[in-house]
Amino acid sequence: QAKQAGRNRFQLFDADQDMQQQTRNQELDKIRQALHRNELRLFYQPKVNMRTGRVVGMEALLRWHHPDRGLIGPMAFLPLAEQSDMIVQIGEWVLHEAMRQMQEWLRQGEVWPVSVNIAARHFQRPDFVSLIEKALSLYPEVPPQYLELEILESAALGDIQHVHSVITECQKMGVNFALDDFGTGYSSLTYLKRLPANIIKIDQSFVRDMLDDQEDLALVEAVISLSKVFNRGVIAEGVETVEHGVLLLRLGCDEAQGYGIARPMPPAEVLNWVEQYKPDPSWAQWADISWE
Ligand code: C2E
Ligand code: MG
Ligand code: MG
Ligand code: MG
Repeated sequence: QAKQAGRNRFQLFDADQDMQQQTRNQELDKIRQALHRNELRLFYQPKVNMRTGRVVGMEALLRWHHPDRGLIGPMAFLPLAEQSDMIVQIGEWVLHEAMRQMQEWLRQGEVWPVSVNIAARHFQRPDFVSLIEKALSLYPEVPPQYLELEILESAALGDIQHVHSVITECQKMGVNFALDDFGTGYSSLTYLKRLPANIIKIDQSFVRDMLDDQEDLALVEAVISLSKVFNRGVIAEGVETVEHGVLLLRLGCDEAQGYGIARPMPPAEVLNWVEQYKPDPSWAQWADISWE
């Protein structure tokens, strides 16, 4: 009897798993269709240097422009895509679209370095370096120095020697690397020493709470001083208020990105935004030059 019940339960569990698998496959199909129907979009969020008052780059952030549901954020569909090779197809689309956009901006007369988020599965492909080389060669007008790749510490886990050589090979072509969400992974300290990333991005969770949370403040300070010792660039994400910016400047972090500066926007709005952008006057006391 017990055995029977046990077996039934097992079958129920099995059927349930089957359903889940089916739903997952259906969802994956929808994402695949979105890609083929050209429903994916890149939005751009400016990065600024608060000390010079200049726009220093843009981060490309993926959106799904769904015909019925409107704009869908990446967290609603990328985690599923990341479980399959779909993420590589999406990642390739993102990479090429960002290059194409830079080329278009160049032709219009003003361009900014664009950073692209790279999923672990994409980065870990054996042919990753040649995929980057290919993307660069398709847009010969765009200087490779304008392409920056953002990876999570976790994407760089595994064979450190291999990871090191992938990053170095890309850097030889001119491409820069940033460590995204820095401090939220497990192995920050060891990895920083061994990974030749050019830039460290301070995770937004630390930045958001640093004004009232001593521990988050300490983490932000630690990441900034690590970046100096290791001779890397540093940028804070999640800068939502002017006070965040002032504190970061005081701590020695000049570059910032966040809703307090600009939200991610469609490419058509970028040029206008840059033209009307004025750095906040309360940052001026930290400025090298008087841009006020
Ligand atoms: P991320 O790379 O750390 O990007 C920063 C996220 O924080 C973005 O969310 C951005 O809109 C949001 N953000 C920016 N400033 C602020 C702020 O001041 N406050 C708050 N609360 N949030 C802010 P988004 O666009 O929803 O992207 C979420 C994550 O999805 C990204 O985190 C990145 O890991 C991933 N992602 C986005 N686009 C792509 C892509 O093209 N490829 C891959 N593989 N991942 C992507
Ligand atoms: Mg990022
Ligand atoms: Mg981040
Ligand atoms: Mg993140």
